Amino acid sequence: MSATMTALTPCPMFLDGKWIQPNIASTPVFNPSTGEVIAECPAGGAAEVNAAVESAHAAFPAWRDTPPMERARVFFKYRQLVEANFDRLCKCVSREHGKTLVEARGSIFRGLENIEYACGIPSLLMGDTLEIARGVDCETMNQPLGVCVGITPFNFPAMVPLWMFPVALACGNTFILKPSEKVPLTANILVELLHEAGLPKGVLNLVHGGRECVDTLLRHPKVKAISFVGSTPIAKYIYETGTQHGKRVQANGGAKNYIVIMPDADMPKTVEALSTAAFGCAGERCMAGSTALTVGAAADKLLPSLVEAARNIRVGPTDRVAQPDMGPVITAAHRDKVTSLVSSGEKEGAKVICDGRGVKIADAPKGFYVGATIVDHVVDGMNIAKEEVFGPVLNVMRMDDLNMAIELANRSNYGNGAAIFTQNGNAAREFKQRVKAGMVGINVGVPATMAMFPFTGWDESFYGDLHIQGREGVQFFTQQKVVSTRWFGGNVGDVWRK
Ligand code: NAD
Repeated sequence: MSATMTALTPCPMFLDGKWIQPNIASTPVFNPSTGEVIAECPAGGAAEVNAAVESAHAAFPAWRDTPPMERARVFFKYRQLVEANFDRLCKCVSREHGKTLVEARGSIFRGLENIEYACGIPSLLMGDTLEIARGVDCETMNQPLGVCVGITPFNFPAMVPLWMFPVALACGNTFILKPSEKVPLTANILVELLHEAGLPKGVLNLVHGGRECVDTLLRHPKVKAISFVGSTPIAKYIYETGTQHGKRVQANGGAKNYIVIMPDADMPKTVEALSTAAFGCAGERCMAGSTALTVGAAADKLLPSLVEAARNIRVGPTDRVAQPDMGPVITAAHRDKVTSLVSSGEKEGAKVICDGRGVKIADAPKGFYVGATIVDHVVDGMNIAKEEVFGPVLNVMRMDDLNMAIELANRSNYGNGAAIFTQNGNAAREFKQRVKAGMVGINVGVPATMAMFPFTGWDESFYGDLHIQGREGVQFFTQQKVVSTRWFGGNVGDVWRK
């Protein structure tokens, strides 16, 4: 066994309350900062999925019948444990994903807020009641569905799983988490801590794997609901296959998010916000501001300082004490996809005014790096204008006026986020009314919603009816029962007088 092999981090599954390391095929997990293999993720299949579903199915009646206050108490404890293990979680996210520690902290905070939201489940589950006729009362009850599933992407190893299982479990469901095989290690810590908080055996199971694992979950007759986050083609596939098999599905997909910059925008603040939106988390965010639509004179006012800011972004390994401003992208293949999209734009006539291709990091030569890149004069129809790049690349498209910018943004197949930078209330109002996107920012570059609001992607950024997070998240994981009650005979007044 080589020295690298001995350093591998174990990556077991959690089935029916026990950590299990199945002797099956696996896929490598990389530290993108160094390019080293740090773990082997088991490629679970029907055997592991069936064991997980049976366990979750058996645990459901007792967990469903546990009063909401008691379920919430587990999440109060979980919150404390996640906070106590914050640094460990940050390091794990940083090591397997490549986020800087600052970015990892931010993402885990967003996840923690979802645990806090789940702590409020007693109020969130309360129904309505009304006397609907003389002596007849009607009430709504919100009851859990049964075995639910979460399938998550690589780009937020803690936050996205935490969008799903805390609220699903707090509602009284049992759950199977299938994290991305590229970042399975953070999910293991999240599951470990929830059991330390007192979650009963079988209520949360963790399976690892890829397509075979997902396909078994999608078709399993005992699975009631599937929450998915990932790329658009897979989101569509999950939605179609899951619903064909009778499951409730919410499936978040990819995105292309437009940021309109009006000539009257506060340019220093816009430069700051735009470089965070485009290059934060190395652009691997579904809410990354990946296209700047500069209106009229805005381009000349914005671009010199934006290029300077992008050139000053220090790229480097995130697994060291000295932290860079930006880390690597997830794999070598992804790095090559990002750089080849930039080159395709160049070939089609766009101009690369800040070039992060071919960036070399002396003390991490095998890491998967792309520097901050700005591609100017991108026009509609170019490949780089259509495809989700998912890397630290900002397209600049020059617009004559606000109307042209809104029309261009609205031609996108996606509909996740959009933002405008302006000091003019009328322009902002026009934009927020007309733009075709579910999450809109006004002088906010990344208008991603927090735990109490739904994550409202539109069009090919979302398949389903009820979004993740907020009250819609609670509705997704519950079904309503309406009870009408009438009691015959007796005179309550007389009984009370006796
Ligand atoms: P992905 O679609 O490749 O993978 C997501 C999940 O699906 C993983 O768990 C993976 O194992 C599984 N999967 C992959 N291929 C599959 C297949 N053929 N059949 C069944 N399952 C399969 O996505 P990714 O590359 O991990 O994540 C990046 C994408 O996620 C980007 O497109 C990004 O925009 C999107 N994303 C969207 C949101 C949102 O809320 N809209 C949030 C985060 C990320």
